[in-house]
Amino acid sequence: MKKKHQFRQETEAVRGGTDLSKKNGPLTTPIYQTSTFEVTDMQEQLRVTPTDSFYTRYGNPTSTVAEKAIAELEGVDAALLFSSGMAAITTSFLSLLQAGDHVVAQRDIYGGVIKFLSQWLPKLGIETTFVDTNDIEQHERAIRPNTKIIHVESPTNPNVRVVDLEKIAALARKHHLITTIDSTFSTPINCRPAEWGIDLVLHSGTKYFGGHSDIICGIAAGRRDLIEQIHHTRTTLGCCMDPHAVFLLLRGIKTLAVRVERQNESALRIAEFLSQHPKIARVHYPMLKGHPDHAIAKRQIVGGGGVLSFEVEGSGADACRVGEALSLFTLAPSLGGVDSLVSIPVLTSHAMISPELRKKMGVTDQMIRLSVGIEHVEDLIADLEKGLAVLSTTRKEAVVAD
Ligand SMILES: *Cc1c(COP(=O)(O)O)cnc(C)c1O
Repeated sequence: MKKKHQFRQETEAVRGGTDLSKKNGPLTTPIYQTSTFEVTDMQEQLRVTPTDSFYTRYGNPTSTVAEKAIAELEGVDAALLFSSGMAAITTSFLSLLQAGDHVVAQRDIYGGVIKFLSQWLPKLGIETTFVDTNDIEQHERAIRPNTKIIHVESPTNPNVRVVDLEKIAALARKHHLITTIDSTFSTPINCRPAEWGIDLVLHSGTKYFGGHSDIICGIAAGRRDLIEQIHHTRTTLGCCMDPHAVFLLLRGIKTLAVRVERQNESALRIAEFLSQHPKIARVHYPMLKGHPDHAIAKRQIVGGGGVLSFEVEGSGADACRVGEALSLFTLAPSLGGVDSLVSIPVLTSHAMISPELRKKMGVTDQMIRLSVGIEHVEDLIADLEKGLAVLSTTRKEAVVAD
């Protein structure tokens, strides 16, 4: 279901969703900061009910521009905005599933989604089987007569695994299942899952789409029939995005392509630098030759994205020391913004996950995750060099103290 774009992605990011033939209007999309919309008569009232000019929980003209731009970027029929990435994912699942249904989901997905699938959906009579990333046979064995959805996430956090979407889509077609993907780490600049046959693309727009670590938002994008169904559910559950924040999202989307291109380049340079470093045991980045999904990545994604992780020689305490010694890489969770960030997965995204399950996911105490921003890459590498130097210093000092 390859969709033809009117323009290339860099152009859609800047101008997508707007009417280029319109004259004498504001260049940037105004904020329709209103909860309701006035009509002249009852006929018009009836006419506007299903539109974005009825009541903002149903839709809003500012949101519509962003939704259209995102649909163009993903190459799909339609998109919807939500108050957070979690709202996009939970609303979509609640919309597509009913009591008695079953989900097959990848094991190493976002923690909040694991919690929703394993602790909340069972209360509604919906079960999930978790399977290993890219083990397609295991995915197939987990499918039951009542399975409705296969959910994947690509690339993953923090091991940056890349899912073979072609195989997942083929498996879903064979068993008549809906495929959903959390594509937050990819962005449509690096991968358009719909082109590989995935039905519904989900994002935390908080990350790359917003791009400046200043808003919380979510996205669902896909086939019109799915999006219409999810729209009804969003209206009922009420997790729409506020128009004021949509303005910031729109501003972010304009630079999505240039930001992600820079982040791809810088993250690769940093991954290469780290792989040469004597104090580092392992680097996880799909564009490096040794990565388990390198072949899939080469085929399926344009760039590896801004997130990478590495494991230091030594202990978890050593990893913490390195994290604290960095200054340009700011110690904070989250990712995808213009500012580079560093975090320790076992203390942040994976803190609530048992050590056994973490081991299964390949998340170790010695692991450090970077979200590469758009600063100059040489400054970022210099910061890492300085930070990693604490590993040598501490060792020497320890020897002297002995
Ligand atoms: C951050 C994130 C989410 C949750 O998004 P929020 O906007 O924080 O609700 C979901 N999936 C992935 C991969 C994320 O990184």
